[in-house]
Amino acid sequence: MDDPASTDPTTTTSDEKAPAPAPVPAPTTTTLPSAPADLPAAMLLDTFYRRFFPFKDFARWLSYANPDTLARREFSFTLDNGIYVRFQSFDSPDELRNEVLAKRPVKIDIGAVYSVKPRQKKTLLPGAFVPKEKELVLDIDMTDYDDIRTCCQGADICAKCWSFMTIAIQLLDRALRDDFGFSHLLWVYSGRRGVHCWVCDEEARKLGNDARQALVRYLEVVRGGESQEKKVWLGPANAPLHPFLQDALDHVLQPAFQRVVLGDQQIFEHAAARDRMLALLPDDAVRSRVRTAWTTLDKKYEDSISEPDLIELANAKWNILVKSLGSYVGSSARKAEIAHLPREIVVQYTYPRLDANVTTHINHLLKAPFCVHPKTGRVCVPIDPARCAEFDPFNVPTVAGLVRELNEAMDVEAEGAPDWAKTSLKSHLQYFKSFVDGLDLEARRKLRREQEQSLDF
Ligand SMILES: [Zn+2]
Repeated sequence: MDDPASTDPTTTTSDEKAPAPAPVPAPTTTTLPSAPADLPAAMLLDTFYRRFFPFKDFARWLSYANPDTLARREFSFTLDNGIYVRFQSFDSPDELRNEVLAKRPVKIDIGAVYSVKPRQKKTLLPGAFVPKEKELVLDIDMTDYDDIRTCCQGADICAKCWSFMTIAIQLLDRALRDDFGFSHLLWVYSGRRGVHCWVCDEEARKLGNDARQALVRYLEVVRGGESQEKKVWLGPANAPLHPFLQDALDHVLQPAFQRVVLGDQQIFEHAAARDRMLALLPDDAVRSRVRTAWTTLDKKYEDSISEPDLIELANAKWNILVKSLGSYVGSSARKAEIAHLPREIVVQYTYPRLDANVTTHINHLLKAPFCVHPKTGRVCVPIDPARCAEFDPFNVPTVAGLVRELNEAMDVEAEGAPDWAKTSLKSHLQYFKSFVDGLDLEARRKLRREQEQSLDF
């Protein structure tokens, strides 16, 4: 996640100690300043909440056709002075909107739906305030890919490493739908360097911590922290792979390894990255053999007259590594141990890396869709998983850009369409609305079924 401290469920920052809300500027009139990008951040955010934030659909989403569900939902605000206000709740969509406009949070986090309205927490006996449900959420952050990225590190991203996020969405979306039967999945760009997934099916929302943990154990294949070199074990040599993993390897991971790791990342052309992969080999003899063969190959490519085909070279180096493992000389036990190694390397370099804590704790907070990232100014827009390969994080609307677009639209257009419909946020808001429509329809059908059943008796 972009800001681990602020999404820690154990954070006990000043519940009610937030300062009085900053004075809210008068609602913006039809004319906006001519140089919107130069507006102070607070003014931009105010304009964003007033004119663009989809409060209606946002509240409709979190209500699931029941106003009481919204009222018992925890919201947390990060204010622009850094104060973090937890356990807020709102009885109605209007109350939520008014409070956001008054406090103008730089970040809104969404927590669980509790047994009682979160704002009444302090008046309750311990044990009376328990989380009852929350969407199943996934959090994937590019910093967890630093050991396999050669293009960027830390908070930086580029089109090359964004491919890892595309792979993650493709693979996890398929697993959550096909293996778990979920269908209401909202993927959201985190505004900077990652993605979130909100699984909104009723069955998912009602999972307890144990079930969430079991689900993460199923999905989490790359394990271990920075200090651990080998992070994937596919089991005994003779045992077939789990069908989920076999399918993932065949359809997503193997092709991604070729295209992204060998191609875009040019993993063998960066000393540190190359050494990290060599460290996964079983012993020094194999490492040395592979190194020598790679050097010979490099020499051959250097000597050739034509421009070297880097992808062809990377593939040739990968084939040398795989062959050297196939001809490994050692005990049969050791041979069995490394039987899966080439595939384990492919998985380690392509499989999605989850922040498990975010998923396993029902009361964990996660940044709300449509927040504005304070560092990049980008809006946390939904990503259509069916078209995730087309998603470009650098093309996501920024709050300053939206205000500029609105100004330009006003210069040429008469009144009519709502503000958001005149900007590049339009398609993202329409996608979100259709997602919420789908949830609404299902909730209404369920209600009707329950009513019919009760009439039968
Ligand atoms: Zn990059």
